[in-house]
Amino acid sequence: MTDSPPIVVGAGPAGMRAAATLAAAGLAPIVIDEAARSGGQIYRRSPTGFARSYRSVYGFDAGKARRLHDMFDALARKVDYRPDTLVWDLRDGVMHCLSAGVSREVTYRDVILAPGARDRIIPFPGWTLPGVYSLGGAQIALKSQGCAIGRRVVFMGTGPLLYLVAYQYAKAGGGSAAVLDTTAFAAKRRALPGLLRGGTTFTKGLWYVARLRTRGIAMESGIKPVAANGEDGAVSAFVYQDATGAQKRIACDAIAVGYGLSSETQLADLAGIPFAFDSLQQQFLPQRDIAGRTPVRGVYVAGDGSGIAGADAAELAGERAALALLEDRGHAADSARVKALERALQRIARFRAGLEAAFPFPLDIAAAMPDETILCRCEGVTAGELRRSARDVDGGDINRAKAFSRCGMGRCQGRTCGPSAAIVLAAALNVPLERTGRLRGQAPVKPIPMAITT
Ligand SMILES: Cc1cc2nc3c(=O)[nH]c(=O)nc-3n(C[C@H](O)[C@H](O)[C@H](O)COP(=O)(O)OP(=O)(O)OC[C@H]3O[C@@H](n4cnc5c(N)ncnc54)[C@H](O)[C@@H]3O)c2cc1C
Repeated sequence: MTDSPPIVVGAGPAGMRAAATLAAAGLAPIVIDEAARSGGQIYRRSPTGFARSYRSVYGFDAGKARRLHDMFDALARKVDYRPDTLVWDLRDGVMHCLSAGVSREVTYRDVILAPGARDRIIPFPGWTLPGVYSLGGAQIALKSQGCAIGRRVVFMGTGPLLYLVAYQYAKAGGGSAAVLDTTAFAAKRRALPGLLRGGTTFTKGLWYVARLRTRGIAMESGIKPVAANGEDGAVSAFVYQDATGAQKRIACDAIAVGYGLSSETQLADLAGIPFAFDSLQQQFLPQRDIAGRTPVRGVYVAGDGSGIAGADAAELAGERAALALLEDRGHAADSARVKALERALQRIARFRAGLEAAFPFPLDIAAAMPDETILCRCEGVTAGELRRSARDVDGGDINRAKAFSRCGMGRCQGRTCGPSAAIVLAAALNVPLERTGRLRGQAPVKPIPMAITT
């Protein structure tokens, strides 16, 4: 075990940078990622055989994407990279990894968990109709396959990704029907001082908005979703309340919805890391220090999987976590580099606070979800059914509500509905969101086939 290689889960910016730091110190880490190619979400690579320029796929981030891809490719001999491999369970120094239908156990002495994030969704009536996608899913279709989700797409939700993805669709020639933001314009104006700390990131955001405007794409702030309507089994219109409270209907053939991101925390949960409620991001996150050390010896977290902070912070956090791991293995620490990384992470955290103020997660919209809305699509549980089960939930624990209602018990293990279910439950019981807790991580963390070989 003493000489066992460190393991990095995730080959996004955090995991790639962690791997490079460990390799530079002479260790040969194992890097495990369920994706076919390294890059993670933001720097997702096209499948082999696709020939598109970096500029067309990554826009302003083309230079960063190329540098990171080249850096990781150059590590080929120093890193044991295992793509197409899902870590579906992990506990007590053993992780279960599924690749090509075969599940193998990999023992670990120390591991850096960098599994990134996923879209944060609030279900609304009609969201299960074909043609309704998550915002990230809409982007993946474009980035990975060069496909648009529709010819007339409504982008709805809130957060910087809303404007970025709408812009990417418009630039690629996809038809955008409208960009509908649940955050009121006044909230964004109030958040301006915090946003200005973001420097070029903020400027890029303004640029996307300006480009959408010049292309004549309708943009509204302060809206509330009402429903997706369907015809012939597919989405045909989106109905919403505008900032004045008037109901409007917009014809479309696809809807991309997202309210920012949620950290992928199931592996951290299975590893036994305690969680705490983060009032800024309104979600439970694994406890860690700025170096990514957790209360569980040998388990480190980095990147969006430990709290949403974006790709630049993910790279810094990956390096910082690797330096912590090295130090804990007895390697000398470069204290100047450690300080520089921590200062940069703190700077980004201040900007993050500005972003959260400019695009707050709309708790009120989730809490007011109509009773008939399918909340858990895996199990077909409505918001009303969860509310009714709240009568039996002693103390307001979401895990008890899951047992009574089956909400979150399906194949996605509550990764999609869990955060909204906790809000609906908290509102029904009139308790603070922290009180309902979070759905406990369960293996398998993502769906796996019944017929796996071990
Ligand atoms: C869908 C989506 C699209 C985004 N698009 C943008 C964008 O265009 N611009 C932008 O600035 N930010 C974007 N973001 C945010 C940005 O991607 C992140 O801030 C950044 O990538 C975080 O880096 P990371 O290394 O922490 O995680 P990621 O880049 O998400 O990488 C995590 C990696 O872990 C792997 N993984 C996860 N779970 C497991 C597991 N159980 N077993 C094995 N491997 C696993 C994944 O396959 C992935 O490669 C997006 C986020 C999402 C979810």
